Amino acid sequence: MKTSIGQSCTLAITSLIAFGWVASEVAGVTVLNPGFEDVSGQSVFNEFTFGEPAGWDLYDTNNVIPDAGTFVGTLEPNGVDFFNSTAPEGIKVCILFNSGREGEGEYGYEQTLVETLQAYTSYSLSVEVGNIASGTAQNGAFFNLDEFPGYRVELLAGGVVIAQDTNSLAIPEAEFATSVVSTAIGSSHAQLGQSLGIRLVNLNEIPAGYTQGTSPDLEVDFDNITLSATPIPEPSNFMLVPAGPGQVTISWDPDDAGWELQQSDELSPMNWSGSPSGSTNPVVVPAADQVRFYRLIHP
Ligand code: CA
Repeated sequence: MKTSIGQSCTLAITSLIAFGWVASEVAGVTVLNPGFEDVSGQSVFNEFTFGEPAGWDLYDTNNVIPDAGTFVGTLEPNGVDFFNSTAPEGIKVCILFNSGREGEGEYGYEQTLVETLQAYTSYSLSVEVGNIASGTAQNGAFFNLDEFPGYRVELLAGGVVIAQDTNSLAIPEAEFATSVVSTAIGSSHAQLGQSLGIRLVNLNEIPAGYTQGTSPDLEVDFDNITLSATPIPEPSNFMLVPAGPGQVTISWDPDDAGWELQQSDELSPMNWSGSPSGSTNPVVVPAADQVRFYRLIHP
């Protein structure tokens, strides 16, 4: 086949068939008890509750819990003691408190979600992480909560970590900061179709200069867990334009990042392989005395 605009149209239509979706809406993924306001099943003690928060399971491969000096549950910050503000969401935050098992390994909460990992979707997990400060509780007990044991936030699929934030934030004492964990899933992923999950971890690392016997109590707090899923939109303005004798220019909207060009010399069967130009946009390709089909793929 000789190079022609007609061939260009065929190539463009082929690429549209290969994608086959148009929607682009941010959708919230359901997380149970995302702000730890549901304290059913827990015991109440002044501003604290003790027990596993509803909807969440303990992640404790190091068997730190239960222990006489470790407490999981919630705290209702009053904006004066322990934190400079009240809870980022609602009135309660979850706590992972540790006095006596410092340095014996990470632990935390995890939740498996109903929704599953989808192709061509961007995920963004947002978590408020709190660095609790020393302070006196309502019962008069003083807690040394200087320093910070470190945190990790994980997004999982099928129990496998697909994105994480390991203690990247420098959170001042008595403050919360927002951890955002994002990943874009393209055409394939080993965990496609498997259940999404969230894990919130107290790294339980003894601060520099301390030992288990001298360490402050080690606590990480979390609140306001949200997860969004956004379909990655089909690239717009995907086009072929003659670029001189025996050449065409292939281009797509430069704002649509992450796409790579593939090519096939036949459609039945389709035999797609990566074009040498990869993600280069625009790119000039030969188009003389041959048939070649192109499509974009988000790897
Ligand atoms: Ca809350």
